[in-house]
Amino acid sequence: MIYKKMWLSMIVVDFHVHVAKFDMWTPWVHEYMKKVNPLVYESFNKIMTPNGVIELMDKEGVDSAVVLAEMAPLTTGVVKNEFIAEFCSKSERLIPFASINPVTDLHPQKTLAKLVTDLGMKGLKLLPPYQHFYPNDPKFYALYAKAQELKIPVVFHTGSSVFKNARLKFGNPLYLDDLAVDFPDLTIVQAHGGRAFWYDIAFFLAKRHRNVHIDISGLPPKNLLKYFPDLEEIGDKVIFGSDWPSVPSVKVNVEAIQRLPLKTETKRKILGENALKLLKT
Ligand SMILES: [Zn+2]
Repeated sequence: MIYKKMWLSMIVVDFHVHVAKFDMWTPWVHEYMKKVNPLVYESFNKIMTPNGVIELMDKEGVDSAVVLAEMAPLTTGVVKNEFIAEFCSKSERLIPFASINPVTDLHPQKTLAKLVTDLGMKGLKLLPPYQHFYPNDPKFYALYAKAQELKIPVVFHTGSSVFKNARLKFGNPLYLDDLAVDFPDLTIVQAHGGRAFWYDIAFFLAKRHRNVHIDISGLPPKNLLKYFPDLEEIGDKVIFGSDWPSVPSVKVNVEAIQRLPLKTETKRKILGENALKLLKT
């Protein structure tokens, strides 16, 4: 992977970025985004292009970004894999992650193999609270086995959501414990670290299982040590993500992490090095 520059001597990888064409998101997602990041709505169609996002990354000091597809028609919308693959083909700094709805896709493992082979997707995002499934349902084990075989990380939305039709019970990270045990070589990422109710479970899983990680997107970085008081212990497992555009400035979040009372080395890992390691596997 090529990253364009060092910023404050630290590589910054934003592991959690959303893009869309205007009609891909449900109305309540637009309503929410307009509230939290009105700037994007001044020129939505211009910012939500590869050039627009790269320009923003330069401004915000981000070297590489994981850009997520989203197959969640009931809650947030449908941001197709083809759109994300095409979007990310414009720059090596944009890393495409696929999304599959395992509930409606009868052969998700075949779909995944195709998305990785044909479209070059580098990871998979699943959204149990948006797609309404328990992650440890054996029905989906063939999908996880395929991801393990393909050596791609699987990101699960864990924790709370404000969006209509989200079912929070499916966001409990405890269900990922079964996957961590049954697929010891599957790289599992708990997006949002079990936000709101389950920080302790997310932390425990990351500490206990070699293959389980936390992406801190959607969490105010200044509160990180409140949510995870022993964060330093899992410094190799914590990955920076912004959840942009649901935050107005990625740079502000990066700077907040740099101000945390953590070892410099840990900050360097969180901001980029841990992500680069996962993206190489
Ligand atoms: Zn997100």
